[in-house]
Amino acid sequence: MERYHKNTIIKCQSFALHCILKKQFEVSFLKIMLRFKKLILLKYQKQLLIDFFISDLLPLKDSGYQVTREFLLSVVEILIDFIKKSNDRSTKVVDFHQPDQLMQVFDFSIPEDPQNLDQLLVDCKDALKYQVKTVDSCPSHDLLCFFVAIHFILYSHIYKAHPHYFNQLSCGLDIVSLAGEWLTATANTNMFTYEIAPIFILMEHFILKKMREVIGFPNGDSILAPGGAISNMYAILVARHTMFPEYKCKGLKALPQMVLYTSEHSHYSVKGAGATCGFGTDNVIEVPCDVNGRMIPEELERLVKEAYAKGHRPFFVNCTCGTTVLGAFDPINPLADICEKYNMWLHIDAAWGGGCLLSPKHRNKLNGVERARSITWNPHKLMGSLLQCSTVHFRENVTF
Ligand SMILES: *Cc1c(COP(=O)(O)O)cnc(C)c1O
Repeated sequence: MERYHKNTIIKCQSFALHCILKKQFEVSFLKIMLRFKKLILLKYQKQLLIDFFISDLLPLKDSGYQVTREFLLSVVEILIDFIKKSNDRSTKVVDFHQPDQLMQVFDFSIPEDPQNLDQLLVDCKDALKYQVKTVDSCPSHDLLCFFVAIHFILYSHIYKAHPHYFNQLSCGLDIVSLAGEWLTATANTNMFTYEIAPIFILMEHFILKKMREVIGFPNGDSILAPGGAISNMYAILVARHTMFPEYKCKGLKALPQMVLYTSEHSHYSVKGAGATCGFGTDNVIEVPCDVNGRMIPEELERLVKEAYAKGHRPFFVNCTCGTTVLGAFDPINPLADICEKYNMWLHIDAAWGGGCLLSPKHRNKLNGVERARSITWNPHKLMGSLLQCSTVHFRENVTF
């Protein structure tokens, strides 16, 4: 058997060399090579793809299956190799490069001429390399989005998958989640209607329903968002629409001066939403925290009274469960009491702390969570899903 393989390899090798020299790349030859792929692929894949371009791939070329297969297998191999390397505990978790250094060693220009498929593989590998000094020639890039995606997702977080990499905001690489990401990229669909994505629509429905059950919202509604910052903004918009329905037709001028509250340790996105949604950042009031970084309920009440005295309308309180820097949990129940008393919308920003809802040991940090009217929860943080994966949940099913 071994001898048979050896002979075949030698034959294939000389045939390959012959073809390479003569630049005669035939799909039929590729098929032969593929049959002995495992043994010779690594050695010859480079040459195999050198004379092929995007136009040789499906669906641009009807007979492009073999080249497409070869190309994608090579990409997967590069990615798997990257996973192996980045799980090597002898390597550093972080080896930071400043942007100007990166720009010196990387060619970000877009070439005029099409690049062959092998060059794209080289680009993928280069994008995953940290020590770019070892690259002799500067790579060029034509499949822009492909490169950009791989570059920015993997390169800029090069050692994210390292076993020693663990952070409350994003964890190491979860292989199952990675498989899901590849699957969704391959399915390449959107979520317009049930007809276009039946499985994904139902999947979304049941996963979000389950998350609401975990929170303690038996009814309600949820939506996936581009990130926690946008989830917080969605919550603010829904709160305004629900509490001031006239806003929809009459606009902001029809409403009193509205005021939002958030702790001084909360995520900047709340202030950002204040600016974006037309409230003004001055009307997003930062409530002082105790030494552990938790919002002080008495301070909130004092500031609410102050706003009422000015004729303003306090309407939204953002309670952070898991502050971004200190990891503090604002006390939900006392804040919920104040919100009930003054008719304000209680939102919980549990972008990373939401993961604690799944922990029998730490769930109590979010006691009272079901009293909120909305909650931001990012599976891409404590739950380890791949970035980006953010959800926002509402206690009531809101329609406008
Ligand atoms: C990370 C974080 C956000 C923002 O989430 P993105 O997905 O990065 O937009 C908001 N709030 C808190 C408390 C966070 O930790």
